[in-house]
Amino acid sequence: MASVIAIDIDGVLADFNGPFLVELRKDYGGPLSSVSFNCWGWADAAFGRSKARRTFARLLPSWWGDLPPLATEAEFARLRSLVEDGHFDVHFVTNRPVAAYRATELWLANTIECDPSDFTLVCLKDKANYCAKVGAVCLIDDKPENIIEVIEYNKTKQPFWPSIMPILFSQPWNEGVEVANGGDWYWRATSLTEALDMALNKIRWLEADSAAAPSPSTKLSNPKDIVGSNKLPLHLWPPTATAGGCLALLEGLTKYGRANWREVGVRASVYADALDRHMKAWFDGEDIDPDSGLPHLYKAIACVAILIDASAAGKLTDDRNRIGGYRELVAQLTPHVERIKAANKGTMETVKHYTIEDNPDAIERFIKANS
Ligand SMILES: [Mg+2]
Repeated sequence: MASVIAIDIDGVLADFNGPFLVELRKDYGGPLSSVSFNCWGWADAAFGRSKARRTFARLLPSWWGDLPPLATEAEFARLRSLVEDGHFDVHFVTNRPVAAYRATELWLANTIECDPSDFTLVCLKDKANYCAKVGAVCLIDDKPENIIEVIEYNKTKQPFWPSIMPILFSQPWNEGVEVANGGDWYWRATSLTEALDMALNKIRWLEADSAAAPSPSTKLSNPKDIVGSNKLPLHLWPPTATAGGCLALLEGLTKYGRANWREVGVRASVYADALDRHMKAWFDGEDIDPDSGLPHLYKAIACVAILIDASAAGKLTDDRNRIGGYRELVAQLTPHVERIKAANKGTMETVKHYTIEDNPDAIERFIKANS
């Protein structure tokens, strides 16, 4: 089945900036060579926002149909053959005015030398959500904000495996822009050929992943087959944890409604706090949460389950801390553990260490546990 890939038009396939500068000069005069496209807002910077907007607003729909292509004929031919061979289902996603839709559609059909029914064209701003909705494997775009939105979307799914591959199409106006830090995955392509190769690679990874799992017709009756299976080993999850967690979720259902977090969303800090309170109380020797009458551990596992599920549903408001050097501090402090123990060697082994076994109800607990 063909994979959906989303490709922006202006700045990737078509040259918008050069012809737009010509229009600005027509309106306000001045030499063409005096403006460089080395930042995203070059038109606003050179002419002022309102002037740039006025010129943009007077552009006729047909203007968009005359923009020169940025990719080569050979690259467009390759794109066409990847569609014809069933590799790609191409969605062109552009923020052009809707009035330019027809001119854009004709431009694409003429430039790629194909029928408009061979591709999908949409005019919209919110590209990350569109890509998510149509299950696109990648977005190829020259606008840093669009790539950042895809990175943010990916974080709500699986942080280490981008659902939508964000491919920033390198141009002078995004060259100096860092759209992400080291932990956020995105790619830079310097040509359409390179971007298409990246998309093909992503599709190959996906295919390799699904090929690694046994086909539905394979019977896993042989124990060795089961060991070799790459499907999720759900049998490893202790059913006791499910039994306990479901009681905590039942309590939540009675208060807030079933699976409410998938609709209204949750905040990471709120659930991290709740989890922490339950674990601290439990480790302090308290088994049962006085508020709910349920074991703290049941409440704790429900907190983690909701965080995982809300994240998968794209409903987690990720307000975790800004990185503040925790790992570095831990690395600095860890050697002191050995130093402190060594300094008090001798007394540490002989003094009494108090645990839950020293609680006043310890005997009662022991009898209960062994009866
Ligand atoms: Mg663009």
